[in-house]
Amino acid sequence: MKLHEYQAKQLLASYGVPVPEGRVATTPEEAKTIATELGGKVVIKAQAHTGARGKAGGVKVAETPTDAFEIAQEIIGMQLVTKQTGPAGLPVTSVLVEEAISIEKELYLSVAIDGSMAMPVIIASREGGMDIEEVAEQRPDAILKQYIDPACGFQGYQARALAFGLGLSGELNRPATALIEAVTRSFLETDGSIAEINPVVVTTDGRILAADAKFSIDDSALFRQKNLEGLRDRSQEADKELEAQDAGIGNYIKLDGNIGCLVNGAGLAMSTLDAIKMAGGDAANFLDIGTANSPEAVVAALKIIGTDPDVKAVLVNIFGGLARTDIIAQGVIDAKNQGLIPQPTVVRLAGSNVNEGNELLDNSGLDLVRANGFAEAAKSAVSAIS
Ligand code: GDP
Ligand code: MN
Repeated sequence: MKLHEYQAKQLLASYGVPVPEGRVATTPEEAKTIATELGGKVVIKAQAHTGARGKAGGVKVAETPTDAFEIAQEIIGMQLVTKQTGPAGLPVTSVLVEEAISIEKELYLSVAIDGSMAMPVIIASREGGMDIEEVAEQRPDAILKQYIDPACGFQGYQARALAFGLGLSGELNRPATALIEAVTRSFLETDGSIAEINPVVVTTDGRILAADAKFSIDDSALFRQKNLEGLRDRSQEADKELEAQDAGIGNYIKLDGNIGCLVNGAGLAMSTLDAIKMAGGDAANFLDIGTANSPEAVVAALKIIGTDPDVKAVLVNIFGGLARTDIIAQGVIDAKNQGLIPQPTVVRLAGSNVNEGNELLDNSGLDLVRANGFAEAAKSAVSAIS
């Protein structure tokens, strides 16, 4: 679950991380009021679940409260397209209005899970404000890391080592160490999956602040982070995943190929993806209907697949156990008849009532390709595209 910058900053502040003064506004009037309260120059920042807002016109400086009104009017209601959002962008319904800070240095700090090391890792760099991926590629020596061994936990010396590594000695060392410690603690205690402060700013008047904040909570841990659940903003989440959740469909995963897959069961999903790969293709998604056993559930699922613009062919691969394949087949026929899957459609059924299921497909008079077995199904789907 991703948080907005303003929510992330509130969370960080509650752990003692210094952040610029500011508040969120949902109307230009409110933005103006906040700018007046902050007494002058402010920064107006689009709240959307993406980075790289600065370059996309989502972060602007306002010299006066009237400026703040006008900029907020421009930004609120916009569809913010950054290089991270894809062409559709994300809706902006609020802005963060913050005191403008006078920047001397921009640094990078994040805490994330390193899957290959099976440990959280704190990452820091003097090269803040810009694309950290680029820095990591071009100058890997500019990236500092401290792994947090779960056996002994986070140690104070790790924050001090990073602060020195960032060149923050003297007066700044203590506040920098405290900031790194507080960000790390906030990540660990809220089951974070990423906490990224880019940039951490050293101001010309000698303060150190989290000027930006990106924070995500591990979805699998939300059951024990109940007090954070309210921070979810569904308007920022992929429509199709929400649609699938709302239709009671267990699992919808978006991938970057062009074959849409309807399956039942996670193991079958994985094998289907492999079969497609082996046939020389790539899946656009998979939608696991789990134990759903009604034509309506299949129709709802195929509607989600059929409206994905990346999908050029549909592969239905169902093993009937508790689910009866004739019921699934009826769902496919209904979806086809309703025009929900105009793409070439390959169906492979096995298990319960497979003869009845296949008969329904054959007698439907619809343009459906029937396949026997995984390999044939995958091959048919791939060749339906090329
Ligand atoms: P992002 O583009 O989505 O990562 O948004 P950021 O919050 O990181 O803002 C982008 C850039 O705008 C930062 O790297 C800063 O250089 C600049 N910026 C943000 N806030 C301020 C501010 O208060 N004062 C000044 N001078 N620059 C700011
Ligand atoms: Mn940033």
